[in-house]
Amino acid sequence: MLIADNIARVRANIAAAAKEAGRDPGDILLVGASKMNGAEACREAIAAGIDALGENRVQEMTAKLAENAYEGAPLHFIGHLQRNKVRQVVGRVSLIQSVGSLELLEEIEKAAARLELTQDVLLEVNIGEEAAKSGFAPRDLFAGAEAALERSHIRVLGLMTIPPADAEREENLGYFQKVRTLFVDINEKLFHNELQYLSMGMSGDYEDAVRLGATMVRVGSAIFGSRHYT
Ligand SMILES: *Cc1c(COP(=O)(O)O)cnc(C)c1O
Repeated sequence: MLIADNIARVRANIAAAAKEAGRDPGDILLVGASKMNGAEACREAIAAGIDALGENRVQEMTAKLAENAYEGAPLHFIGHLQRNKVRQVVGRVSLIQSVGSLELLEEIEKAAARLELTQDVLLEVNIGEEAAKSGFAPRDLFAGAEAALERSHIRVLGLMTIPPADAEREENLGYFQKVRTLFVDINEKLFHNELQYLSMGMSGDYEDAVRLGATMVRVGSAIFGSRHYT
């Protein structure tokens, strides 16, 4: 299957889900999760009109940046970010979607201040409160957002979440609903309703996420094909 055909199919599914929910499909950004796919695949996705590409490994992203893989589309960092790799990401991506701790906020602030720029971020919510996953627990999200608001070189544009991988559909819908509620609440109380992005939904559940209010979905295998881990 051609990447362009896959993108067209995903877009059509997003549009159908949006209409079911009475939403404008144009309000939903499609981010291609391009991990384990080479520069050529990234270029194909950009030529086919993907809204942004997202990478989740710093080393892979750095190598592909050197090949100009992302020219013509915004680049997002969507994976777990280690503090010692922050300087390789800040200023190189338009959005870091995966900011899930006060320590990471602090490190991003330092790196952005050094470069005299403002780094756009999403706060990641660990909605399933999984021990092995990064992200703010729901109860810590307000404190995280308040800390981010105090950082002059960080701008929060919204929330991101990855529900537990083993959740059944009904349970998954519940997680999306909870994050949506947190988004509306925090947006009103701390951000004057100016947050734009609610990033949730991947290949297996992006239509459900769109029905439940996602404004950004991160789709990998449904666009690029299945990944082969070695
Ligand atoms: C890989 C990845 C995705 C996309 O996963 P698919 O199931 O292949 O669509 C989305 N978000 C993050 C953070 C990822 O690492």
